[in-house]
Amino acid sequence: MKVVLQHLTKKFPSRQKKGEDVVAVSDFTFEIPDGKLIGLLGPSGCGKSTTLNMICGLEPPTGGHIFFGEDDVTRLPPENRGVGLVFQNYALYPHMTVRQNILFPLQNLKGEARPAKAEMLRRAEEAARLVQIDALMDRKPSELSGGQQQRVAIARALVKMPKVLLLDEPLSNLDARLRLQTREEIRRIQRETGITTIFVTHDQEEAMSISDLIVVMKEGVVHQIGRPQDVYDEPKNLFVAKFLGTPPINVFSGEVRGGVLYLGEDGVLCVKGVGDRKVFVGVRPEGFLLQAAGPLCCTLRAVEVMGRDRSVVSAHPALLGTEIRSIIPSDEVLDAGHETVRFALKPAKVHLFDTETEARIPFEA
Ligand code: ADP
Ligand code: MG
Repeated sequence: MKVVLQHLTKKFPSRQKKGEDVVAVSDFTFEIPDGKLIGLLGPSGCGKSTTLNMICGLEPPTGGHIFFGEDDVTRLPPENRGVGLVFQNYALYPHMTVRQNILFPLQNLKGEARPAKAEMLRRAEEAARLVQIDALMDRKPSELSGGQQQRVAIARALVKMPKVLLLDEPLSNLDARLRLQTREEIRRIQRETGITTIFVTHDQEEAMSISDLIVVMKEGVVHQIGRPQDVYDEPKNLFVAKFLGTPPINVFSGEVRGGVLYLGEDGVLCVKGVGDRKVFVGVRPEGFLLQAAGPLCCTLRAVEVMGRDRSVVSAHPALLGTEIRSIIPSDEVLDAGHETVRFALKPAKVHLFDTETEARIPFEA
């Protein structure tokens, strides 16, 4: 089922200033393709949950429309939309077994929508198998790990065979290892069922790793939509560039003079097609090449071994921030005893931004 958002907007009366509005979501237009997993990504408070709540019907929009397929569902109550919901807090019924928890949404159906008992049990078993908790059906939630509880919550969302699955930070309560594992599981389940899924998270790595498309939001405004790798490689603006990637992109203040990009005194790169001007310069950590006579001269602070790679921590006068974090393969020769380290930059890993609008400025290397 494709989901179409047209100029979707939500304003709340401000809690701080009487008579003013907080625009939680502003003019969000997007057609979510059928059967895809969409990662809705942005810092806390950017409007992710509000967007999800409007799609599922818990929150009425102040403006715009929502379509499921060709049907306008904007005013439809949540129970008639055919959505499955999973939140950060699994909210299982503690006194019920896993089986009873999964069955609950089916038993709550009224009239013709309510399947026969045998069919309910069959569907509950199927949903449990899908999330691999079918061996735990007679346990109570308190006898399960956090990850297992979240699987029960997902099974409970799937048992009604939703047309759209909405997940709001579903992994936030899990420890690091379980988060990794469960996000892979969610990806697998989504592929197997083909249910159009919107996955909300503030964790860019999580969104990047499992999404077909990511939507990057800030302060209610969608800044970029695209495939994770495309958004990473071609961020539309400085915010998106800074939000994606670990370690984060290194930002310098720079200047283009005569087709050459300068960071302080260092002429680091030829940038064709950009006139003389000041710019913000973002360099991805993997964009630094160790080079004895490289044009970028930095003060070496530390070298951290991370197994396959090494993280080189350095400083430069033009850096906007406290330290440069670059990642280099650990088999490259680097004398950690030196006071300086010199780099060349990989053009594809360097982005220029307007200092006013922060929009990316394309250039040819
Ligand atoms: P996210 O899920 O991305 O953290 P939310 O969608 O929860 O963000 O919130 C977006 C903005 O809307 C925030 O500024 C938040 O304070 C505000 N907001 C959310 N719900 C309400 C509400 N019921 N009343 C007033 N403001 C709200
Ligand atoms: Mg939220």
